[in-house]
Amino acid sequence: MKDKSNNTNRNRKKAPGKKKKGIQNSNLNIESVNCYVCGKPIKEIISAIAYGPNGEATHFDCVLKRLREEKDIKEDQKVQYIGNGMFAITERKKSTPENPLEFNILEKIVVENKEIKPEWRIDIRDNTVG
Ligand SMILES: [Zn+2]
Repeated sequence: MKDKSNNTNRNRKKAPGKKKKGIQNSNLNIESVNCYVCGKPIKEIISAIAYGPNGEATHFDCVLKRLREEKDIKEDQKVQYIGNGMFAITERKKSTPENPLEFNILEKIVVENKEIKPEWRIDIRDNTVG
């Protein structure tokens, strides 16, 4: 995991006498969850991946993008979701008549930490056996 510490030193001067009245945001949609990577709201929370260090919700596509960047995926390789909170870097095997869609798993990437039960995750899989 990369440590992305922001070292920008900003001068935070308080402007005296410039008090803005805070907008009351009690009517905000609390249900909406923003993506850990791109910050945009996640519409389909069911398809989101718990990617952040604390299981933050992340777009499936954003996780894919990040993994591709991090892992330096080659042209004949792919990042695929293999289930159970895991992704895999796969490489296509030479297709044979028997196995036209065979691929090798080069590396498994565990993305979701099973220890973390994020709040945003609606448990629709009540019957899952841990
Ligand atoms: Zn995103």
